[in-house]
Amino acid sequence: MSVAPRPSILSIDPYVGGESKIPGVNRIIKLSSNEGAFGPPPAAIEAITRAAREAHRYPDGNATALREALGARFGLDPARIVTGNGSDELISLLCLAYGGEGTEFIMSAYGFMMYDISGRAIGSRVLKVAEKPAPEGGGTVADIDAMIAAAGPRTRIVFLTNPNNPTGALLPNSEVARLRAGLRDDILLVLDSAYAEYVTEPSYDPGHGLVDAAGNTIMLRTFSKVFGLGGMRVGWGYAPADVIDVLNRVRGPFNVASASMAAAIGALAEPGWVEKSVAHNTEWRGRLATALRAAGGDVWPSHANFLLADFGTAGAARAVDAKLKTRGLIVRGMGGYGLPQALRFTVGNAEECQLLIDALGAPSDG
Ligand code: PMP
Repeated sequence: MSVAPRPSILSIDPYVGGESKIPGVNRIIKLSSNEGAFGPPPAAIEAITRAAREAHRYPDGNATALREALGARFGLDPARIVTGNGSDELISLLCLAYGGEGTEFIMSAYGFMMYDISGRAIGSRVLKVAEKPAPEGGGTVADIDAMIAAAGPRTRIVFLTNPNNPTGALLPNSEVARLRAGLRDDILLVLDSAYAEYVTEPSYDPGHGLVDAAGNTIMLRTFSKVFGLGGMRVGWGYAPADVIDVLNRVRGPFNVASASMAAAIGALAEPGWVEKSVAHNTEWRGRLATALRAAGGDVWPSHANFLLADFGTAGAARAVDAKLKTRGLIVRGMGGYGLPQALRFTVGNAEECQLLIDALGAPSDG
């Protein structure tokens, strides 16, 4: 007889991601996890090598150097920054600190899947609010009015991903502010801006302004996307002092590895990295969208480093996926998000994008 976990645990489907093998295929091109197109920044690789010599030492549990580097880069108070083992860890810690049996969390139907997994893991009920058609045409966007209306007496956290993964949709600042203003003050708004750097909309606020203006809001960011450090697991949050204090109480004492912190500081110092990555992303995302449309996909407008394409039926999406797999290309099925007719494609480097475009245009096998 096995020991029973908390009742909600066995209803959770494990997160599927990061697949990197196809049986019988030697060269794999992984475009399924929205990783940075250019690999790790050279300054990060050097920093990891240097940090390795001190690997017998515990990391700085306060992440002082990294928080100061983040503060300097983004003009934020380092005392109001918390770092985590990926932003996934911060999501999980927020759930642990603010949720539990008898509480509810709210997210939009196609918001990032980890809110659901981490919320249910600690026994909170997670409400998924249906999205509405995007005003810019194509795809869907979080329905702010419906999310406000869904909040009830047990609601503790509302999660919003902006730009959203997996849809790529971007909400204007005014909509995010309207969500905050429509929620009670005892509800924490988690504004997940994992893809912030890719946004080219000049007025976009990843959350700095809202966190300062409204309180009870945390902005989450990550080094896993534009900074090319998914394997190092570094995320961070910017929040009012009381939220930072809560997270510092529940996190592990050495939750970010020293080599990871060094890598993140190195990545921030790499000259021109973000600019170069964003220019590449905008250019190739456009080319990829054209190729996906030609392949029969309805491409949703994206402000991030990936595109979601709806192929009409689950069978059609499976056929595209199978065709790509025989050529070593791994993209992300959207069945876990309730969109089995869609696939999500990360914008890789130029060679990877071209291989994907060529494969999409190739005749179907069989
Ligand atoms: N939030 C969003 C919206 C994401 O897409 C991801 C990565 N898939 C994460 C958080 C988690 O990122 P990290 O690697 O920092 O844990």
